[in-house]
Amino acid sequence: MTLASVLNLHPDFSDPALHAEGHYIGGHWLPGGGIPVTDPSTGAVLAEVPDASVEVGLAAVEAAAAAAPGWRATPARQRSEILRRWFTLMTERAEDLAVLISLENGKALADARGEVAYAAEFFRWYAEEATRIPGEFRTAPSGANRILVDHEPIGVSLLITPWNFPAAMATRKIGPALAAGCTVILKPASETPLTAFAMARLGEEAGVPPGVVNVLTTRQPGPVVAAILADPRVRKLSFTGSTPVGRQLLAEAAKSVVSCSMELGGNAPFLVFDDADLSAALDGAMVAKMRNAGEACTAANRFYVQDGIHDAFVAGLTERMAALRVGAGTDPMTQCGPMITAKAVAKIEALVTDAVGRGARVRTGGAAMTGAGNFYPPTVLDNVPADAAMAREEIFGPVAAIYRFSEEAEAIRLANDTEYGLAAYVYTADLKRALRVGRSLESGMVALNRGLMSDPAAPFGGAKQSGLGREGGTTGILEFMEAKYYAVDF
Ligand code: NAP
Repeated sequence: MTLASVLNLHPDFSDPALHAEGHYIGGHWLPGGGIPVTDPSTGAVLAEVPDASVEVGLAAVEAAAAAAPGWRATPARQRSEILRRWFTLMTERAEDLAVLISLENGKALADARGEVAYAAEFFRWYAEEATRIPGEFRTAPSGANRILVDHEPIGVSLLITPWNFPAAMATRKIGPALAAGCTVILKPASETPLTAFAMARLGEEAGVPPGVVNVLTTRQPGPVVAAILADPRVRKLSFTGSTPVGRQLLAEAAKSVVSCSMELGGNAPFLVFDDADLSAALDGAMVAKMRNAGEACTAANRFYVQDGIHDAFVAGLTERMAALRVGAGTDPMTQCGPMITAKAVAKIEALVTDAVGRGARVRTGGAAMTGAGNFYPPTVLDNVPADAAMAREEIFGPVAAIYRFSEEAEAIRLANDTEYGLAAYVYTADLKRALRVGRSLESGMVALNRGLMSDPAAPFGGAKQSGLGREGGTTGILEFMEAKYYAVDF
C-alpha cells in the first residue's frame, strides 16, 4: 500500500502534493525504496522511502556546496521572505502535516497540531532574525586599533533529527541555518521521514532554491554520516537525538574538526514544594509528562514531591492519568497515542518491572497493553526508590515516577544526581525559593510554575551530557555562523 493511498483514505488529509517519497537532492526528487515506514498504532506499512548509499550522501554534499555561494550572497531580506513564505505554507497546510505526523509517529492529533504550530514558528522567528544578524565594533583596550567582528555563514551543514518531533526538530535547525546563509543536508529519523519530505515540498513551493535544502534517508546512518562529515566542504553538524549517538558523532566530527551543536537526552526533575498550588502543579505535571505521550526530551522523568503535598499530588495525578484515552493518534478522541516501536514499549516495561521490584507501588497502569500497536498505558508509580533504573534513564513513555522528599537541599541534590541537564520544573508559591532552587539546578532550562518551556524565541538546550549549544532565541542563528575578527587601523 502506498502512502498516497493510505492518506487518501484519511478524511483530514487533503493535499496530495505533500505525498513526497524520494530523496530530495539539488532540487530533484529521486525515487527509491528500502526503508518501510510503519504506523505505530497498527504496525501497517504506510510507505517506503529510499535507502541512501554513501554515494547519495556525497551527492547531497555536492548539491549543497554548489548552492552555497548563491545562497550566501542572497540578501538577508530575500532569505527572510522565503522563510516567511515557508511559515505561511506550513500554517495553511497545518492539518495535513498534523495528520502525517500523527500517522507516522503515532502522537495524538492534538499533540501533532501543537507540533506543527511550534515547528512553523521557527521559520517565522528566523525569518525575523535573518535581518538582524549582530556584529561588533570596539576600540582595543590598548587603544592601538579597532576591533570589528563580523559573522559569516559557517558553510554546508548536516542536520540530523530524531523521530519524536519530526517537524519541529527539523525547522529548529533549517530555520537558523537558512537565515544565516548556510545550505543544508537533512537526515531525518528512519521512523518518521515522511514529514521531512512533505516539508521539503513546501520549501520548494516557498521558493527555496535547488540545493539549499537537501533531504535523504538511510538505513546505514553511520557510514553515510561519516562520509559526509569527512568531506571538507561540510563545516557544521547539528544533531538532535540520544546522548550515546551524540557521543559517537562528536568523535566522528572531531576527525575533521567540524563544529557541533548537540541537543541530546534528558532526565528532567519536576519539583513540587508544599506551598505549591496543587491544581496548577497537576496541570503542569500532565503537560510536562504527557505531551507526546512522554516521548519528549523535556518530559518530566522524576517527580520529587515534598511530604506535606505528596499524598494529594499522587492521588490527583493518578486520577488524571487513569482518565486518559489511549488509542491511535489519528483518532480525534485519543489523548495518549502508541509508542514509536515495540522496542520502546519493551524498554518501558523493563524500567517499570525494575522499579516495582525495588519497592515502587503501581497506582495506575503498569503493564503493556495486548493486541496490535505499540501501546503502553498512562502509569503512575509512587514510592520509587532512588536506585531504580528509571531514576537514571529516560523513560520516554507515559510513566510518572514519584519520589518523596522532605528538605529543599535534599530535593536539589536528588534533582542534580544525573549525568543529564536539559530541563527542570519547579512548583512553589515562594518566588525567592523558585529562583534560589532554579539557580541550583544543573540544567539548561528551568520552568517555574509551568509545565511547558519550549519556545522558538528562547534558547533551548542542555548542560552536562544533554548537549552543546542552543537552538532558538537570538543566539540560535550564531550556531550556524563563524565569527570573523578584523583588526582595523584607520
Ligand atoms: P537516536 O537513536 O540518537 O537517533 C537520532 C538520529 O540519529 C536519527 O536520525 C538516527 O537515524 C540518527 N543516528 C542513529 N545512529 C546514528 C549513527 N551511528 N550515525 C549517525 N546518525 C545516527 O535518537 P532517537 O531515538 O531518534 O530520539 C530520541 C532521543 O532524542 C532521546 O534521547 C531524546 O531525549 C533526544 N531528543 C533530544 C532533544 C533535545 O532537544 N535535546 C529533542 C528531541 C529528542 P535512524 O533513525 O536512521 O537510526
